[in-house]
This record gives sequence, C-alpha cells and structure tokens, in this order.
Amino acid sequence: MSEPRYILHIDMDAFYASVEQLDDPGLKGKAVIVGGSPAKRGVVSAASYEARKFGVHSAMPMSQAVRLCPDGIVLPVRMKRYVELSNKIHEIFSRYTDQIEPISLDEAFLDVAGSTQLFGSAEQIGRRIKHEIKEELGLTASVGIAPNKFLAKLASDLEKPDGFVIITEDNKKRILDVLPISRIWGIGRVTEQALKAIGINTIGQLKNTAPEHLKDSLGNQTGGILRLAHGIDDREVESIHVAKSISSEETFAVDIDDKDVLLGVLLGQVQEVAQRLRKGKFEAKTITLKLRYGDFKTVTRSSTFSKATNTTETLWRQARAVFLKWHKKSAGPLRLLGFGASGLITEGAGQKELFVNPEEEKQKRLDQASDKIKNRYGNDAVKRGG
Ligand SMILES: [Mg+2]
Repeated sequence: MSEPRYILHIDMDAFYASVEQLDDPGLKGKAVIVGGSPAKRGVVSAASYEARKFGVHSAMPMSQAVRLCPDGIVLPVRMKRYVELSNKIHEIFSRYTDQIEPISLDEAFLDVAGSTQLFGSAEQIGRRIKHEIKEELGLTASVGIAPNKFLAKLASDLEKPDGFVIITEDNKKRILDVLPISRIWGIGRVTEQALKAIGINTIGQLKNTAPEHLKDSLGNQTGGILRLAHGIDDREVESIHVAKSISSEETFAVDIDDKDVLLGVLLGQVQEVAQRLRKGKFEAKTITLKLRYGDFKTVTRSSTFSKATNTTETLWRQARAVFLKWHKKSAGPLRLLGFGASGLITEGAGQKELFVNPEEEKQKRLDQASDKIKNRYGNDAVKRGG
C-alpha cells in the first residue's frame, strides 16, 4: 500500500462578497451582491450568504438578482483588492508547506505530507491555517482534508460556509455513496442526464452498476469516473516547484463579456505569474492565454518570445497583445480566463547575446524593487498602470 497523502483543499467562503463586507463593516450581515450593474445587463459574480437566502446566486443576471433581493447592496468587482488578499492567504499557506497548487484566487490544494513532523497532523495544520486566515485577515475559509485531491475538494464543500471536513479511508464510502453523481469531476450536465435516464442518481448507485452498462453514457471516461466514485484519485498537488509551466486561471461565477474587466483579470494573472516566475528563478519562453466561452468551448492563444523573460512589463505587453488580437476576431462572453508561462528555463540561462537590452534591464530592476516592497508591505503597495 502506498503512503497516505495529506491533501488540504482550502476554499474561501463567498470570497468577493466577504471582502466587501470586510472592507466596509457596515455591510456585515447584509445582502451584498458583487457584479455588473443591472442597467448594463450585468451578472452576479458573488453573493453574500445573506443574499443567497433570497435565491441570489452567481451567474444570475443582476436584474433578476435585484428583483429577488430588492434590498441587496450591489457593488462592482474590485479585482485588485481580491488579488491582494489572495496573495496574503497564499502567504499563510506557505508557512506550512511549499507544496501549494493554486486553483483560483480563493482556492488552493496543499500537500502537507512533508510538514506534519514540524507542525502536527494534517488536521492541526488545517485548523491553524483556517484560524490564521480568520485572525489576520478577517475572512472565513472552508477546509477539506483527505487522502487525495478529489476527496479534499469534495470535503471543503460539504459544510460550507466556515466548514471543516475530514474524509478518511474509513468514512469515504459512507460520505460518497449518498452524494449525487454530479459531484464527480467529469460528469457534466449531459452525462448526468444520461445516467439519470438509466436510474443512476447517486455515487453509490453508480458504483453498483456494472461498467458495461455505463459505457453508453460515460464512454472512455468510464474507468476514470468509477475510480473517483470509489474515492481513488492519484493526481499530485502540482506546486510551482515541479511545474513545467506556471499559470493562473479563474473560472468566473458568471460569464464575463466586458473587455476591460477581462483585461483587469488578465493583468492580475500576469502579475501573479511573473512574481512566481521570479520567486522560482525561472524565465519563460512562451505565454499562453486560455479562454473558455460560456458554452465550454475552450481555445488557447500562445506567443513565444525570442528571449525568455520574467519581467512583468514584457509578459503583460505580450499577453495584452494576444488578448486584443483574440478579442478583435473572436470575442465572446468568457466563463474562464487563464494565463500561463511555459518553456521555463533557469533565470539567466538564456543570456547569450552580447548586448543587454537597456529597456529590459530597467524593467528587471523595477520588478526587483517592486517584489521587495510587495514582500515587505503587501501587494497593494505597488501598482502598475494598465
Ligand atoms: Mg470560494
């Protein structure tokens, strides 16, 4: 038997809305709805739990949200502030492990197998992280702990908000069997309907069905989905140390059409990736934008540099150009936007040309200075103009 792994999945509760309530205590206990204005056919990005009681949820048109919850307080998305807090949350994670795989601004997997001798059991580490996020930042996180990523993510969601759930080899069957099949990764709406049509509603029922009866609905995914149904998942936490690429992506609660909002998200991602590249002493040859439309169609757009780089300015200039080119030709509301840097080499390893580019050197010094300030004073201390 292989060594048990200790995976934590940490997911902030109603993140954008909670940040708004944190920054304006007058909003505490009130129905807060973050998103685009109803007059501009905006959509809900996040709703506080008070607003959810009225049936408001993300991805809903804002006009509908304000009809359901007329006293709700509608606020715009403040991406920079969310990124800043996200970095602080990440800093708390990094006190306990360097095996961190960020999934989005408010969600990450942590592998703490190597940390338990120093900090106690996975449960103790999970409790400390949750406590420190609350004490230091005033925000609540839900924590899931399990032997693997699939179960850890499931666990963090089971008792949201402010949840803390541990799934073990012993209790996993009991927890999994009663859950709806839609909780399994890879079972989308179409597959769910197909399975329901043959009488399979829960994970337990799915497991008790002979695989040959599932082939029509699941095709070549049958084996993988059945493994998940049994709570088996071998995927590693991909921290930046083993990554062949460094990326940041975000699934929006609602499809976003607004060019400037998307550019704002992209800028945050470029800044994050650039910082992580520099921290890991990498330079990237290639950048890739991942764009997923509302109908799940996903496209990528890449661009390769003649010389690897990790300066924010160079990465941003290129990312922006790639984005605008895509936007001009094939713009559409996006449900996911991601930015990745790949073709990683060790910093300075590509330094072969005779002449240094003075502009690049200047940007490097700027980045070093801003990284230093950010490390000391937090991310909002340095702002970069569009
Ligand atoms: Mg969350």
